[in-house]
Parts: sequence; C-alpha cells; structure tokens
Amino acid sequence: MKVTTIGTGYVGLVTGACLAEMGNQVLCLDVDAEKIRVLEAGGMPIHEPGLLEIVRRNVAAGRLAFTTDVDRAVQHGTLLFIGVGTPPGEDGSADLTYVLAAARSIGRRMTDYKVVVDKSTVPVGTADAVHAAIAEELAMRGVQVPYAVVSNPEFLKEGAAVEDFMRPDRIIVGADDEQALLLMRALYSPFNRTQDRLMVMDVRSAEFTKYAANAMLATRISFMNELALLAEAQGADIEQVRRGIGSDPRIGYQFLYPGVGYGGSCFPKDVKALVQTGAQAGVELRVLKAVEAANEHQKQVLVAKLLQRFDGNLQGRHFALWGLAFKPNTDDMREAPALVIVRELLARGATVAAYDPVAMPEARRLLGSAAGLRFGERAEDVLEGADALLLVTEWKEFRTPDFDAIKARLKQALVFDGRNQYDPALMRLLGFEYHGIGRGGHP
Ligand code: NAD
Repeated sequence: MKVTTIGTGYVGLVTGACLAEMGNQVLCLDVDAEKIRVLEAGGMPIHEPGLLEIVRRNVAAGRLAFTTDVDRAVQHGTLLFIGVGTPPGEDGSADLTYVLAAARSIGRRMTDYKVVVDKSTVPVGTADAVHAAIAEELAMRGVQVPYAVVSNPEFLKEGAAVEDFMRPDRIIVGADDEQALLLMRALYSPFNRTQDRLMVMDVRSAEFTKYAANAMLATRISFMNELALLAEAQGADIEQVRRGIGSDPRIGYQFLYPGVGYGGSCFPKDVKALVQTGAQAGVELRVLKAVEAANEHQKQVLVAKLLQRFDGNLQGRHFALWGLAFKPNTDDMREAPALVIVRELLARGATVAAYDPVAMPEARRLLGSAAGLRFGERAEDVLEGADALLLVTEWKEFRTPDFDAIKARLKQALVFDGRNQYDPALMRLLGFEYHGIGRGGHP
C-alpha cells in the first residue's frame, strides 16, 4: 500500500519504517528540513534501538523515502498518517495547531480518495475537527474528493519503539467508514498475525483510549512514589512492598517502580490535557490532578534528600550525576526529571558533572552552557571529587558498576539512588552511605 507519514519524529519515523519493512511504499514528510537532510544522508535524527537498520534496509530497497515536499507527500499516500506533535497549550490542553495544519495541507492538495489517520495523541473530537478542516479546504477549492478520517492512537514506548510497533499489545482503530476500515485492517494484518490484536471501536472511544492508558500508567507511578515517601518515614522498604503487591494478578508487577518522577513527551502533557478536557466538560478529574501534583513533588525528592544530608546548604558542593534522559534507551529529554534536578542544584550554588550514554547533546541544547555544569564522556569521568553520586536514569551500564572505582574517585562514599538500582545492604557492606527512594527498613 502507499503510505505517507506527516511528521517524521519518534512516532512518524517508526511508523513509516515499520510499515515499509512489511512491503508498503512509504514516504515520510517533515517540515524540519534538517531532519529530512539527516535521514536522506543515511543518518538518524533520534536514538531508537534497531531503527537505523530498518530505515537503511528499506531505503535501499526503494520502499522508504523522505521529503519536505508537501505536494508530493499528499499525492503519494492513500493512507496519510498524521504523527505531528500535540504539545500542551498554555492552559495544559493539547495544542492542535500542527494536527490541523497537517489536515489543511491535505485538504488543499488531495485529488483522490484518502484515508487520513490520526496517530498523534489528540483529544476526543479531533477527528471531527480534522474532517471539518479538510472539508473547508475542499470547499474553498470548489471540489469534492472522498476521504475518511480514522483514529489510530500509537502506544509505542520510546527506547523499545520498533519492537512495540512490530509486536503490538493492541492496535486500536477508531473508524466509522467501511472502506477505510478495510484498508486499515489490511495494512496492519502483518502486525496482527494472531488475529487478536486489532480492536475496532468508534472514533471518540479510540481517541479517549490513548489518554486513559497514559493517565493510568502515570497514576501507578505517582501512587508508588507517594507510598515510597511513606514507607521511608515508617521504616519499610518500598521495594519489598512492590514485590508483595505486584504478585497479586489484579495489580501486576509493571509500572510500580518508584523513582524521581515521570517525564518524557507523553505522560506529563497527556495527564495535563486530560485534566483540562475534564474541566472543559465539567468533570473534575481529582485523581489525575493529584497524580500531577505528586509528580512535581517527586522531581524534587533527590534535592530534598541532599538538603537534609548537607544541613540545608548545597553552596559549593559538587555532585556527579548519572543519567539525563527521562528513561533509559532514549535521548529524549522532554520533561526529564534530570532537568529539574540539575537546575535546582545549580540554583542552590552547587556544581554538577553529568554523564548520559546518549542524551548529552540534547541535555547540552536544553541546559545550555549553564555555569557550574559540565559533561563527561564516560561515567567514571564525572566522579572525581564529587560530594555524592546521584543516579537519575537507570541505564543498564549503571546497574553493576565498579563500586571500588566509584569510591576511590568520590570525595566521600555517598550515593543517592533515584531509581533504586542498588541493594542497600550490599552498598553498606561496600562502605557506602546509601540513600534510595522509599528504602526504609535498612538500618
Ligand atoms: P516529535 O516531536 O518527535 O515529531 C513530530 C514531527 O512532526 C516533528 O519532526 C515536526 O517537525 C513534524 N511536523 C510538525 N508539523 C508538521 C507538518 N505540518 N507537516 C509535517 N511535519 C510536521 O513527536 P513524537 O514524539 O513523534 O509525537 C508525535 C505525536 O505522537 C504526539 O501527539 C505524541 O503525543 C504522540 N505519541 C508519542 C509517543 C512517543 O513516545 N514519542 C508515543 C505515542 C504517541
């Protein structure tokens, strides 16, 4: 089939590459000429395991191409996927500027039947707005061209995006047009070999499902983060509690990991957007408001621990920080807790030496050349003379480091583990003063 992705970011590029891998002819459009230039030159603008290989293979096979030419892109695909950003607007609601601009650019050019597929995360009613925007453009041209708008929210996780797209837990298609549905079923059939992955529903429910999923996951994280604070105060170990409750199949083990708060391009903005949708609909989402507030609090938890440890004064202290990305296996720094932590430490007069396996260029871009902040090329480079090591992102390479080397380089053997990666008892045996999240019960 002929597919165009409008937006070639994490979602658009992964979607395009994976659809090309199954034999489709895919053209990826972006307004960011630099991104397209990098891709055309055989490079990769984002860090996503396995993606470069798939892109290269399909470009070489002539099934995948990139463009900034909107005419060509709209002409090319029968299925036009909209995968542009939906950032939070000033009041927290999803900003649909880019989605509607994409819709209008389709309406201005289409000459034959198109299925317009909303893959961006968008509030209920957006498919109607996309439909109307296209209709308006067609009316202005004085032409009638058939089209359908379908909702197909994306559930991939950054860091495992290719795997998630290739072997999805579910593919949600919200459609009320038989022909569009037929095409969507055919397109996704290679990803649905077991025939049980594709769920068809009405458009509004499909749009809602994406927000509901992210809101539930964010809720689990904030819930565990709050319980971790209490566990610590009560001398209980949240990691043992986590295993204890996860064994209940009604609860399950996933997404129960306490830490320094959730970040990334999805949870923070989607929680905000859903709260705002609730406000607009006259339904106050009290639980979700608390989820967001708990998360803001949690991003400060490591700094609060440092303040407690250093008698309320971080002036002149120097800290080593491992991990900047909002989670491992990505270079995405959007809403990363590390940004809050670094800025807070610098504002309190401390200096920071940070290392991340892939997110340092992005961190440099966002944090600029802030005085008191430097980056190291390797994990061990940032340890020298630091008052403490702060673990912020749980990259695999931090799991079992050379603790003797760490101890030798730090000014004092002090570790603040924001992701509960290390065993408190072992750390103490190794001679470290160890602070985790919610790890009471380890005298
Ligand atoms: P992104 O910022 O990585 O990519 C969006 C791309 O769209 C950018 O490259 C931008 O230049 C381009 N763009 C904007 N307007 C355009 C236009 N009119 N025509 C062509 N290109 C245009 O964003 P992302 O992370 O891929 O997210 C896209 C959407 O998917 C968002 O709604 C997001 O919430 C959702 N989503 C993201 C993820 C994720 O993990 N990143 C997962 C599921 C859903």
